[in-house]
Order: sequence, then structure tokens, then C-alpha cells
Amino acid sequence: MKLQYILEMKKPQTHFYNVTMNIEDFTEDSMLLTMPAWAPGSYEIYDFARFVRGLVAKSGDTELEIQKRDKSTWKVNTKGYNSINVSYEVFANELSVHTSHVDSTHGFLNGTSVFLYVEGYKDQSLELIIRPYGDWRVSTGLEKLSDNRYRAVNYDILVDSPIEVGNHRSLYFSVDGKEHEIVLYGHGNENEEIIREDVKKIVEQYAKIFGHLPYKRYVFIYHLVSDDDQSGGLEHLNSTTIDIDRFTFSPFEKYKHFLSVTSHEFFHLWNVKRIRPVELGPFNYKEENYTTMLWMAEGFTNFYGYHVLLRAGLIDQKEYFRYLAENMRYHDFLPGSRNTSASESSFDAWIKLYRPTPNNINSYISYYLKGELLGFVMDLMIIETTKGAKSLDDFYRLLMDKYNKDGKGYTEKDVMAALKDVSGRDFSDFFANYVRKPGILDFSREMKSIGFTLKKGYRKVDGIEPREKAYLGIIVRTNGGRYVVDSVVEGSPAFEAGINPKDEIVALDSFRFGDVFLKDAKEEVKRLKLDNLSTFKPGQEVRVTLFRRGIMHQINATLATAPYELYEIVEDPSPVQGYEPLRSKFFTG
Ligand SMILES: [Zn+2]
Repeated sequence: MKLQYILEMKKPQTHFYNVTMNIEDFTEDSMLLTMPAWAPGSYEIYDFARFVRGLVAKSGDTELEIQKRDKSTWKVNTKGYNSINVSYEVFANELSVHTSHVDSTHGFLNGTSVFLYVEGYKDQSLELIIRPYGDWRVSTGLEKLSDNRYRAVNYDILVDSPIEVGNHRSLYFSVDGKEHEIVLYGHGNENEEIIREDVKKIVEQYAKIFGHLPYKRYVFIYHLVSDDDQSGGLEHLNSTTIDIDRFTFSPFEKYKHFLSVTSHEFFHLWNVKRIRPVELGPFNYKEENYTTMLWMAEGFTNFYGYHVLLRAGLIDQKEYFRYLAENMRYHDFLPGSRNTSASESSFDAWIKLYRPTPNNINSYISYYLKGELLGFVMDLMIIETTKGAKSLDDFYRLLMDKYNKDGKGYTEKDVMAALKDVSGRDFSDFFANYVRKPGILDFSREMKSIGFTLKKGYRKVDGIEPREKAYLGIIVRTNGGRYVVDSVVEGSPAFEAGINPKDEIVALDSFRFGDVFLKDAKEEVKRLKLDNLSTFKPGQEVRVTLFRRGIMHQINATLATAPYELYEIVEDPSPVQGYEPLRSKFFTG
């Protein structure tokens, strides 16, 4: 069979892509054409067929009979014809990393939401011709044959290569003789030179870890968007798309987010793209693909994402420890960490991480957070066991050797075997207790091996650290000057007193409820605020005035001692002997 796709955007301002598939040398009597229901890396059913219209199949001038088979599949009657063309339109007006977008300013395609595949022929090599609008040009990780003509060895590669079409800026740099393109769509407070230098530093650091870069060319596609737009990143084989606040480039407090998401998505080219859980490929695009290993695929990527910034000199140790300690605090604070294991968290990504309920904080913990902390602990365990000779880097080099070559994925068993190979240590008990069970990690024990310890306490009030603080246990989202409960912490006074998500809090005793009673629930997640009642005492009874479905209620609650709000990683006053080499190994890899 011969397969060619032609992509056009004749009137970009109307948000439609026109796709034509030319299929030759096809011998069967019928053909099934399917639009994916999800985009790999984004574990959510999206049913991209919703955006398709006007599907027509022809052979020459003869229109062929088409039947819709299920929500995502069309059946074309090809009897008597071995060369056909299929054309359709795709409505693309959602700018996110896992959808497609076209408007008067640019076109962006995530292939799973634009290209149909021929059932039974996903392995077929194919050609893509792009006809850009006006003077627009194309940037993509796809193999280029000539101007606007590309090739993919199969459908998976086609849809794993996002495409940016427009008048975007492109910056270039090279590492190890490989070309890297940075695509910038949109403007904000960026500095092109600093972006180029810092992204290069990240690439160099990973090249050092793995010894080489396993691609010919790599493309970073950045969409500089507004604060209200969806932000995020999505990993691909030779590229990534990152949608980020256009004003993220300064001050450094914000810029470090740009660096960490870049580092995270780049590490994915190994972790999940070339070294993957066995269930994540070849993909079944029609339905959920379940795996228990996202804590490693995403969580370890988070761990490397930040750790590599430290190793590249882009953040200092103080910042690294601040970030790590904040994640440890949040992990301990979330009741969900006591209810969901890392494996279960991964398996339920489709219905819990991507479709959270207001009770998620009590029943679920994200595999990003849990996995990142597992990565930290396991790195230290390897370093400690091998007296600094090996680290998690060696584990990844081993996996790359083993699993990239045959293209197969790993199982949890394979991961345990690789950990044992690298460290000589048996991780069976650790997996049983901390991966498959919602066991609480003891960070202090592992940190002692590198001469640090964990200090827990409260933020200072008027220069003095309080011995305790009071809290109600509500997590609030501010909404146009209104304070609406997003979640209630299980076991907290608010939980016991029956304050509910969606309640609008208006007063505590006789005080109007406001910002003064709130602080960030997690430093990196600014939209969620936890109550912070430093002027009240634990044990004190307060009257909470709230509106619920338009009716005012007054509820009494007895305040409790707030969980610690500040974890700090500090020098251990009595470190274990020989910690120095272990410490240096942790910081330099
Ligand atoms: Zn990721």
C-alpha cells in the first residue's frame, strides 16, 4: 500500500484543517479509518473524532459508500477500487499541548487529533505534504524530504511529531553535532539569548548522563500564552510542545518553572519514549492504555527535571532543597498519600489525575509527586548501597541499553531486576511497602546518608516561629472576590463540622473572610489556598458563616493544630561516617 496525507489550512481564521489521504495499491474490499480517542502522554479520553466533519471517500470521480462503525471509526466500501482518496475537515480551536489549533496567527497540530489511520496499516510508511497558509513556514521533528514534504516510517511517528506552522521565531544551537531548534510562538518577557543558552545547558547535562543523544534533530515548540490559557508540556520522540505563561521569563521565581518543564519534557525522550512501561506502546489509540508505572515514567522525570537544573548550575543547592522539602511537606500533608499507592495512582490516571473529584486530596496522590519522591529516595538508596559508586543515572543507562534496542517496554519486575543489577540491593521489600502500598516515605533516614536532616516547623510570625498554629482545614479557590471551598482536608475541623466543597466562606466569627486568613496550599500551585489562622488558637471554637446554594449557614468548628507548613533540609549535626563522597555523588551524578 502507498499512503500520502495532504494537510491544508485554506482559511485559518475559521479554525479548520483540510486533510486528504491518498491511498494506493489497496486490495481489500473495505477499509476502516479511525481517529484516536486520546493523545499518548496525556492520559485522558478526548474522542478527537468529535472534531471531524465532511468525511468523503472517492476513487476518481466515483464517491464511495461510507458507514460510521463506532464513535471513532468509519468504514469505506472499496470493493473494486484499489486507489482511493479520503478527505475531511478538522475543527481545531483549542490551544493545548494535546489538541490542535489553527487561527489567523498560526497552526499547531498534535497528530492524534488530525490524522486518521487505516486499521491494519499503522506500520505503513507514509508521506505528509503540508500546504502552509500564505507565507507561513513549518517546524517539526518529522524527517524532511524537501520543502513542506515529510516522511514517517509509520503512523506512530507521524502523530508523535507535533507540527508548528506560522511566522514563529526559530533559534538554533547544536550539542554533540546534533541540531536543536527552539520554536517560539507568541511574545512575552523572553530573552532569546538566555533561552538558547539555558536550554543548551540542559541538553548538555543529559548528553553527559547518557553519553550520547539518540536522535538526529530535536525541536522544542514553545507557545507563549496567557495566564488563563492551558499550560503544560507533552513529550515526543524528537520534540516537545510546551505551552507556558508568556511572562514566565522573569523574575527567576517564575523562570525556574520554564527551566524545569523544559528539563522534564527533554528527559522524557529517554524516560517514556525510548524506555517505556510495556503497556505504553504500541498504543491502542481507541481506548485507555493502563499501566501501573507512571510513578516512574512521570515521577522520575519530575525528579530529573529539577535535579538536572542543579547539576547544570541553573539553580543552586538552596533552591533545590527548598523545592524538594516543599514536595515532601505536601506529600505528608495530603491525606490521599495514605490512601493510594504509587501503582494505583498510575493505573487510575485516566479517571483521577485527569478527572479529579473535590475529594481527590483525601483519596488520591498524584504519581508525579509520589514518583518524584520515590526517585529521590531510590537514588539515595543506590548511592548509599554502592558507597557512591553508582546512582540512578547508572540505572537509566542500563535501561536504555536494554530496552531501547529491542523496542520493548519494561515491567515492574524488570525495573526491580535492573535496580538490583546496578546496586546489588534487593528492592522487593521496598516495592512491596512503598510502591504497591500507600506507605509513607521516611525521607529523614535516606537524607542522613548525605549528611542532611529534615526540620519541620511553622513560618515565623513577627520574627518568631510559633510553637503551634490553628487551622480549619479548608482549601479555597478565590473566584471574583469570593472565597469558595475547593476541598476539605479529611480529619480536619472543617471536615468534622461538615463544611463542604463549593461552600462560599464569608466570615470567621465577626471577621469578614479574606486573604489575611489564607496562604498557598503548595508554593508551586498558587491557585489553591489553605486557611492560615495565625491569630486564632488550636482548641478555640469559631463560628464559620458561609453560603451554600444561596442560603446562609453558620457552623461552629473547633480549631485544631495545623500541620507543619515549612520543611527545611538542613545539615545533620551528627552525620553518619563517610557521608561526604555520597553527598558529592548525589549532587554531581
Ligand atoms: Zn511528563
